Amino acid sequence: MTFLAANRIANLQPSDIRLMTRECERVGGINLGQGLGDLPAPALVRDGAIKAIQDGLNTYTPSEGVPPLRQAIAGKLKRDNGLEVDADSQIVISGGTTGAFAATLAALLNPGDGILLMEPYYGYHLNTILLNGLEPQFLTLTPPNFALDEAALRAALKPNTRAIVVCTPSNPSGKLFNAAELAIIERVAEQHNLLVISDEIYEYITYDNVPHISPASVGNLAKRTVSIMGFSKTFSITGWRLGYAVADPALAQAINLVNDLLYVCAPSPLQYGAAAGLQAPPEYFQQLRAQYQRKRDIICSGLHEAGLTPLVPQGAYYVLADIARFGYPTAKAAALAILEQTGVASIPGSSFYQSAAGEGLIRFCFAKDDATLHEAVKRLSQFRP
Ligand code: PLP
Repeated sequence: MTFLAANRIANLQPSDIRLMTRECERVGGINLGQGLGDLPAPALVRDGAIKAIQDGLNTYTPSEGVPPLRQAIAGKLKRDNGLEVDADSQIVISGGTTGAFAATLAALLNPGDGILLMEPYYGYHLNTILLNGLEPQFLTLTPPNFALDEAALRAALKPNTRAIVVCTPSNPSGKLFNAAELAIIERVAEQHNLLVISDEIYEYITYDNVPHISPASVGNLAKRTVSIMGFSKTFSITGWRLGYAVADPALAQAINLVNDLLYVCAPSPLQYGAAAGLQAPPEYFQQLRAQYQRKRDIICSGLHEAGLTPLVPQGAYYVLADIARFGYPTAKAAALAILEQTGVASIPGSSFYQSAAGEGLIRFCFAKDDATLHEAVKRLSQFRP
């Protein structure tokens, strides 16, 4: 008997990220493709989790997460995001931001519903949309600013559009949505009764004092917004799988129902570690920003000198480089040629677009130690198209 894969995965789009990692390993190169940060986890977070294990906090937790973590998140939302939420009814801790996003889609949208992604988009958003039988719809934002235009947003909506995804700061562009753009989203979402799903996993990684604004803090958006946040990037604990959704109680209840089915709960002792981390002083967050800003500056000036024009990001830890003028037929051909010649791996821009707009771009991740970044830009400076 032969088994065929289920229809729901038939349209999933495999990413070139794995291909580039494989090719990078083959040539023994520097992998600036995949987004793996390698900063150490803060002692506060690590010791909080160790203590929880020593204290025997190893069993299932409530599906929405342990009270101390939800209370710490409510405090952080008030302090840093301008959001007043009830820790008991509005926060759902999940298996990473990824888990919170997946539970949100399954809980709040029906198969066949349209959901708008702004491209360049994060590949997991698209694939999770496809997995849930939703119809992805696209609005292309254009470099260098990736500005959101109200008329273009309205034109991208279809009669079945029920939701819009906002990723701020964005992976891969590093764009931060400003107050005027979020006001556009509020107007359009109100008029068309859209759910807004904001992925803010990079909220603490922002540059040049550009503020991160949580969409839910704008006008009346809170009631129709699911804010999705996490600890992977803030505490450099990508392997801990801890994130959360924040929403109106009725929405949070539905998300929690699915969260329970998919994950039962997030890992118990690690939740206590994250709760301890949220008590970190403001200097921790300032240093995190400063460290990544230094890395951003190393890579952007190196790319500039190498003629791989960087689209300087305002946040997150990726930079898109404009390689259109080199005339490669595809971004994949360009990324492979750069890897072959310099030993530095990037990701083809086509991984982040449906339209052809990504063919002139490649993405570098700069969540690496400074020495690796210096070596990478030295190698890239030798690139001859
Ligand atoms: N959202 C975005 C935009 C990301 O870039 C990433 C990781 O690269 C994630 C979510 C994954 O987050 P988590 O580790 O919390 O699942």
